[in-house]
Amino acid sequence: MQGKAVQITPEIYTIIGGKFPLCNSVLVISDQVSIIDPGCRLEDLRTFLHTKNLEQNDIDNIVLSHIHPDHITHAARLKRVSDCKIWANEITAPLFDDKEKMKNFLGFHPGHKIRPFWEAMVNNKMYGALDESEVDYILADRERFSLGGIEGTTLFTPGHTPDHMCIEFAESNYIFGADIDCTDFGPYYGHPNSSIEDFKRSISLVMSKSYEGLISGHLLEPIVRDHVSALKSYRMHFDLREDFILMRISKGARSIDEIMEEPIIYKSLSDFVLLQFERWMVEHHLNSLIQKELVRNDNGIYRTIRA
Ligand SMILES: [Zn+2]
Repeated sequence: MQGKAVQITPEIYTIIGGKFPLCNSVLVISDQVSIIDPGCRLEDLRTFLHTKNLEQNDIDNIVLSHIHPDHITHAARLKRVSDCKIWANEITAPLFDDKEKMKNFLGFHPGHKIRPFWEAMVNNKMYGALDESEVDYILADRERFSLGGIEGTTLFTPGHTPDHMCIEFAESNYIFGADIDCTDFGPYYGHPNSSIEDFKRSISLVMSKSYEGLISGHLLEPIVRDHVSALKSYRMHFDLREDFILMRISKGARSIDEIMEEPIIYKSLSDFVLLQFERWMVEHHLNSLIQKELVRNDNGIYRTIRA
């Protein structure tokens, strides 16, 4: 499936990028050419456009679901070649317009010891994501907008990051879930301003609506027909991870380093950047366990609270 396009409606397609550091891009070809989250392979986008007698400089609009580098990868480059308009929500826009703000937003403030490793990873694997560029149109929550006659509506779904949004297609009743992606990896909330509680609320919001299908930002088979069942399984990862952390503490792990001795979320922690993401995610779980009064933190020493 890698590198292929999937047709969703006569106007809407998904260019399969798949797993991080790529993502699935949604292409809308109607009176205008629009791409949502240009993080698929550029060659795959170009190849598909050629099948429609189009070039990358025919792109009129780019829409960004959130500020993650794997979703904005080619936005600045495509705007340079096509002079297209970039659309983003009111939280994403200032971050896209100022990449220093973006780095801070994602937790990599100047002097953060992992920042150079993260920048190197972005530049190696998502080259172009840190290029300076500018958003043209700012979208509010539940705002309807037209991509060459195809209507989209924003649905703010924070948690993954505070700026994350999904996009609903009114006529066909599909939703682009972006990083509410229904993957086996489960939800990602690896930044200081990510939020497990917000993420759960956002998943519930998407589950409360009926759709023809959810378009995943990362699944190789991108269309999820039964999004409610898929999101139930996806949501389970929060509890599984939390149980795992609680078990480690019950078995005597006291510091966050001891809790993280074996990977919990990622399979391998040989990469500094993934290790940082894992730490931020474990920290979110520890805070949530403290809030639930299952764990207490005495100056960095974690202990379970038994009834
Ligand atoms: Zn993301």
